[in-house]
Amino acid sequence: MSLTYDHLEHLRPKDEWRFPFPPTCGTCGYNLTGLPKNRCPECGTAFDMREVRRKAAETWALVLRLQHVNHDARLGLYIVLGAWAMVGLTRLPIMPGILRWLDLLAIGAGMLGMVLGSQVFKVRRIPPWARAYIGDREPDQLLGVWTLLLGLSLLIAPWWLM
Ligand SMILES: [Zn+2]
Repeated sequence: MSLTYDHLEHLRPKDEWRFPFPPTCGTCGYNLTGLPKNRCPECGTAFDMREVRRKAAETWALVLRLQHVNHDARLGLYIVLGAWAMVGLTRLPIMPGILRWLDLLAIGAGMLGMVLGSQVFKVRRIPPWARAYIGDREPDQLLGVWTLLLGLSLLIAPWWLM
């Protein structure tokens, strides 16, 4: 028998909370810790604690993932710069024209760079109050933009240079 997330959810004591931030109202962000009723006292929205916990799990997973995005974006930048260097080398007059098929590799590198660079923007998918938990490795948006743009430039440029 395999245990699904829902099974585990039933086994877990009802009041257990395993995230470093408190349960919050999905509508107004009010702290829902220890309330006698399943209704937000701030905005009056009814809530289901399992839904609140599911949302918190999602947010926490994203916070953990975001701690790696600068590493991903930097890796993407190296890949893109490496691909640009390769494209430049194949354009040297001494290089046989047949090496131009490497442009396909450069285009692949450009797409990879765009994917890796855009990871930093996932920070927008977590609520502002949860961003404090990313710690000192806050996503470097400038690095992401550079990686994204240089990746995009690879998708366009080799064809101009033909
Ligand atoms: Zn509320």
